[in-house]
Amino acid sequence: MTERPIDPAASADPEARAQWPVRFPTILEGQPALVTGANSGIGRAVALGLAASGADVVVNYVVDPQAADDVAHQVEALGRKAITIKADVSNEEDVQSMFSSAIGRFGTLHIVVNNAGLQRDAPFHDMTLEQWNKVIGVNLTGQFLCAREAIREFKRRGVVKDISAAAGKLVCMSSVHQEIPWAGHANYAASKGGVMQMMRSLAQEVAPLAIRVNGVAPGAIRTPINRPAWETTEAYDSLMTLVPYRRIGEPNDIAQAVAWLVSDAADYVVGTTLFIDGGMMLFPGFASGG
Ligand code: NAD
Repeated sequence: MTERPIDPAASADPEARAQWPVRFPTILEGQPALVTGANSGIGRAVALGLAASGADVVVNYVVDPQAADDVAHQVEALGRKAITIKADVSNEEDVQSMFSSAIGRFGTLHIVVNNAGLQRDAPFHDMTLEQWNKVIGVNLTGQFLCAREAIREFKRRGVVKDISAAAGKLVCMSSVHQEIPWAGHANYAASKGGVMQMMRSLAQEVAPLAIRVNGVAPGAIRTPINRPAWETTEAYDSLMTLVPYRRIGEPNDIAQAVAWLVSDAADYVVGTTLFIDGGMMLFPGFASGG
């Protein structure tokens, strides 16, 4: 066995730790995957991670088709097939037509990652119904609509021997805010709390069909959605008071976990939420005092 090199400088420096080489074992061959919101941030890294693991990929987007094309080209450069499909996940017709195009192109889907999400922040007393509905519509109803189509296809097809032990794998992108209350973001926290209970109820319902449904709850990941939280040194330092591991998460931290979660290596993982947060859920305020 080759020993992993020890680099004391890297182990002490959070930036160097974030640059540690990323490797994806090729374990998803023959398993087409659909990732929503795959043209940015975490969704983009997940789409590329699944491709690096052997899956053909449907790259969903709603704005910025060029960024979606760029992801598709990178998937192809990894030797896999890709298509881009424009669809608003909160729109029932869009979602149904996206799934039928995807299945038409790849024959079926084995993996669906419900990743698309957004924030519309406001103090509670100023929050408009539009801001509330937009966040619930995309983050929760959008996940319901995509999950329903995914389950219909997994159920129709069933387990395919030599491809995967499961009839299908659905990952619901949640957040540490499915647990942690978040002042000024009540619509977002409510949507992620809803994702958790939808995911768990659905997992319980379809586990007997050999369909695995799980959640992933990122902490602070370096993407456009939370740019103000990491872009300046002051903001980054303040963020680090919430992260015991003392580095921000990178999109590949999530992509590597998702690639494992949808593989047969995780075949007994059902209805759980995997927190990927550098320890944000460890109540870091209690590290001293309390
Ligand atoms: P991002 O803004 O980079 O990506 C969000 C993606 O969702 C974009 O591609 C966007 O266009 C897409 N999207 C938005 N509305 C859509 C719609 N109606 N239909 C289809 N796509 C739509 O942000 P991100 O950080 O990569 O977020 C991805 C997911 O991770 C979200 O669900 C987010 O809540 C979750 N998350 C992110 C963090 C973080 O720190 N970045 C932490 C916890 C959870």
